[in-house]
Amino acid sequence: MEIKEALNKAVDFFKKHQISQPRLDAEVLLAHLMGMERIQLYVNYDLPLQEDELKGYRQLIVKRVSPLPVAYLTGEKEFMSLALKVNPAVLIPRPETELLVEEVINFCQDQGLKEPNIVDIGTGSGAIAVSLAYYLAGARVLGIDISRKALAVARENICSYQLEERVKVIQGDLLEPLLKLHKNNVDIIVANPPYIRATAMASLPPDVKKEPKEALWGGDDGLFFYKKLGQQVAQVLKPTGLLALEIGDDQAESVRCLFNQQLGPARLLKDYAGKNRIILFERKQQVVS
Ligand code: SAM
Ligand code: GLN
Repeated sequence: MEIKEALNKAVDFFKKHQISQPRLDAEVLLAHLMGMERIQLYVNYDLPLQEDELKGYRQLIVKRVSPLPVAYLTGEKEFMSLALKVNPAVLIPRPETELLVEEVINFCQDQGLKEPNIVDIGTGSGAIAVSLAYYLAGARVLGIDISRKALAVARENICSYQLEERVKVIQGDLLEPLLKLHKNNVDIIVANPPYIRATAMASLPPDVKKEPKEALWGGDDGLFFYKKLGQQVAQVLKPTGLLALEIGDDQAESVRCLFNQQLGPARLLKDYAGKNRIILFERKQQVVS
């Protein structure tokens, strides 16, 4: 069977199983198996597949409809134009989270922060921490996560981009590890915490259900982690620092109320689907000791 026919069969199979991006998934999986870029599949459209390649492709296709997300099958996800390693211990980084990273980069440029001290809470694969350090040459980033398995993935990504000097990770519960050590010396706190309501967990798409529950579960109202952070950030963030958070699309007002007394007014940003997704607080108030 040639590449062209194998792809078409995979697409038909994926369509029958309601896979949302059948062509893209079929191509990404075959390109991964063949060690090619996707574009090379088209250059080699009439190339016959070997028996073992065909067998390997069938296995990937069956796993995809099981349904395992493509990124867990390839072990990789692109984020901020970086190839990051992922496995089922971490959330697969989402395109909307790139907006969060871009805002933090903009803040550093606008404020002339050459060596910002950044904390990424719930770092997971390290997507936010690694990309910030990669694009901000002087940044020092601390990634915190409750999951040891996630931190192992973050460490791999830090090593892949040779950022060990400037990106460290530690296990901990939100900002707990810093409460004793630091006193308002963090320039930027960034987080994409779990924010899915407990009642919504059962109706998540089947692919998303394969991601770690502790990366998604946000308690009864989805606000569990924002409420806890509300009690911690003012003790860690500099008086002129930035708090940058990803939020659920209906959480903007509740999250604003949790932080605006301590940090000042909020700025909201929408994602590519036009939904409220990012909330930013540029701290203006004096620290009262
Ligand atoms: N930052 C990554 C990203 O944006 O792709 C992962 C975000 S994922 C939505 C949330 C992360 O928070 C998970 O890696 C999870 O293990 C971590 N987490 C959950 N509870 C935590 C806690 N109490 N303290 C620190 N991290 C926590
Ligand atoms: N945006 C994720 C989803 O689509 C949720 C991420 C989170 O809880 N922070 O499921």
